Amino acid sequence: MKEEIIKLRPHHLLCTQAYAGAGYSDEFVSNMDSIVEELRNNPDAKVEIVFSTDSVCNACPNKVSDGVCKSDEKVLRFDRGVINALDLNERIFSYQELIKRLDEYLLSGDGDERLKAICGDCEWYHASDCWEKIKAEK
Ligand code: SF4
Repeated sequence: MKEEIIKLRPHHLLCTQAYAGAGYSDEFVSNMDSIVEELRNNPDAKVEIVFSTDSVCNACPNKVSDGVCKSDEKVLRFDRGVINALDLNERIFSYQELIKRLDEYLLSGDGDERLKAICGDCEWYHASDCWEKIKAEK
């Protein structure tokens, strides 16, 4: 059943921008496809920022249990980078407002370096050409 409001952990604001159809499993990809379609095509889309597992994690094979990811050592660090960059707290936002904040942050410096500082050691960073995809959206 579709959740009423999409919950996103902070670093998934980056992933939903750079996503290009690849992921950890078929179930993950199908869930991510529907989340990304809603966020990219509905200008009024709202998201609830959560500092924990979210609507993307719910279909991920790396989710151990509610609130716990197998890669917590890394993903919590990515989340912290986005929280600090965008001055986030846990509440409901307009997705477009968050993307505007993200654009301002990345484009007020060397965007590639700013992105790399947050999540440059993610396995998808180069595999998915995240910076190229994010830049192309601007
Ligand atoms: S790898 Fe971890 S943070 Fe990323 S979607 Fe899966 S459970 Fe969530």
